[in-house]
Amino acid sequence: MSSSTTGRRRVRKRALPGYKACRNCKAIVPENEPVCPVCGGKDFSDEWYGLIIIIDPEKSCFAKKLGINRKGMFAIDVP
Ligand SMILES: [Zn+2]
Repeated sequence: MSSSTTGRRRVRKRALPGYKACRNCKAIVPENEPVCPVCGGKDFSDEWYGLIIIIDPEKSCFAKKLGINRKGMFAIDVP
């Protein structure tokens, strides 16, 4: 019996368990983070695919493709 944790326990293909993706900017944030540290959004998705780590957004072609202009971990696809 688990009473203290959140009730959602869907098993999906996720790159990193314990993380969720911001629907607004696709940032990957820990599940216990209430607000996206990148864009301040609160709309998260448990289902996300692919993981990209942007170290230098100016030089990363992935970052440009995905419209990301800052450092951090991002999902490639947030359905
Ligand atoms: Zn965000």
